[in-house]
Amino acid sequence: MYDIIIVGGGPAGLTTAIYALRAKKTVLLIERYTPGGQVAQTGKIENYPGFKSIDGIELSSIIFDQASSLGLETVYSDVLEYDILGKVKKVKTYDAIYEAKAIVLALGAVAKELNVENEKKFVGKGISYCATCDGNFFKNKKVAVVGGGNTSLEDCLYLVDIVDKIYLIHRRDEFRGDKHSLNKLFEYEKLGKIEFVLNSTVTKLLGVNYLTGVEVENKLTKDVRQIDIDGLFIAIGRRPDTNLVQNVISLDENGYIITDENMCTNIHGVYAVGDVRKKRLRQIVTACSDGAIASVDIIEYISKNF
Ligand code: NAP
Repeated sequence: MYDIIIVGGGPAGLTTAIYALRAKKTVLLIERYTPGGQVAQTGKIENYPGFKSIDGIELSSIIFDQASSLGLETVYSDVLEYDILGKVKKVKTYDAIYEAKAIVLALGAVAKELNVENEKKFVGKGISYCATCDGNFFKNKKVAVVGGGNTSLEDCLYLVDIVDKIYLIHRRDEFRGDKHSLNKLFEYEKLGKIEFVLNSTVTKLLGVNYLTGVEVENKLTKDVRQIDIDGLFIAIGRRPDTNLVQNVISLDENGYIITDENMCTNIHGVYAVGDVRKKRLRQIVTACSDGAIASVDIIEYISKNF
């Protein structure tokens, strides 16, 4: 039996691991893809203290290496089932059932879909939810990015050196994303590299086997415009990946896990950290903070209960 199982290897999960391993706890990380979570899919990161500018994938691997060098064990698998109501927590994957004294849900969040007809059909055939993963497929082509948050702005900044032109489609004319990134995009607008398509939503996806364009409706004027593009990057936020625990863990109305200030959920020995938690600010630095706080509480929980 491990001391702690952490599900999800983003900055929140990995920071939990680093603090626990330094306190000589045994830790198993279960990760579906590559460690780093959303950060590994981010281009440049310029708001994480200590690094003026660093690629997301590089920061992810630095944090993962740090945890691994302390003795982190990692299993790459989907979790199929949680049995976490008892004192010993059990997690079932395709290959095994793992047990631990405490469990940390660092499940992150998955990309939201536009819910426009044929969206699923065009995934991988013009539609992507990850600019840093798929941007290179669109060298010197025309693409659109949908969204008005930090992800969409950073996707544009990542894509602008790769593609010929970007249409940034946003349903309002104000952005949630940082002014700093937005100002950089205005500079590219002057060069004709980016066109802002504001107060607009994608109403139709065009193409037969492969996406060739979108139909966009201006919500104010009701004008409909066709934009010919080779790629569409959808960056309209994320939703928590909490389906498997929804019957036992307290969630808010949007499916995010509710914790107290020590990252404890409603079940003893079950913690949640990072983007999957109900919280105001979802950033790398707040994810790491969650991990550190959780770890300290878990160490105390284990010493009192085992
Ligand atoms: P977000 O901040 O929630 O923004 C989502 C955007 O998509 C909003 O502008 C929203 O429009 C729009 N949207 C939502 N549903 C839509 C729909 N059905 N159709 C069209 N547009 C839709 O999501 P995010 O950009 O993925 O960021 C998530 C969190 O991660 C945020 O807290 C963000 O700050 C953080 N993040 C930080 C960094 C960084 O600091 N470097 C980088 C990436 C992400 P409205 O504005 O009209 O609601």
